[in-house]
Amino acid sequence: MAHDPDLCDDVRAAAFLGRPLDAAAAAHVAGCAHCAAELPVLRGVADRLHAWEPAPPPGLSARVMQAAAPLVAAHAPRALWGPVARALGAALLPLPLILIASAAVLRALYGVLCSLLPETLSFYLVLNSAAVAALLAALTYGSIPLLAARQARLRFEGVHD
Ligand SMILES: [Zn+2]
Repeated sequence: MAHDPDLCDDVRAAAFLGRPLDAAAAAHVAGCAHCAAELPVLRGVADRLHAWEPAPPPGLSARVMQAAAPLVAAHAPRALWGPVARALGAALLPLPLILIASAAVLRALYGVLCSLLPETLSFYLVLNSAAVAALLAALTYGSIPLLAARQARLRFEGVHD
């Protein structure tokens, strides 16, 4: 097999990474003068590099974390958006059903009240009930992003401590 730059690169990569040559690469080495000459040299370099395992200096992990702390803190708010958006999306899914059920309940309440009380007073009471229900829904849905962000922040800080 003649000199083929792609196959030569494959052989170099396999030799340098310490991987055994497959059948095609071995056949290529048999016919390629470049690879036949380089292979033993690359295997020797690879063996020496693989034998050399420098121990990380003491305190490296702490120094890296200290150096990365400003970046981690700067990216923390962006990392919180995903969980908040997911929580809000999950909470908004049943909202149309809740609104339809609430309207049906208020309409039924209005019908019952109209049979007992004057129409204006019934309307006033139903309007108040609707306002209270809307306030509760607004408070509930308003708290979802805050709770989700708090959960995500706790999880984020737990991961990066
Ligand atoms: Zn070659």
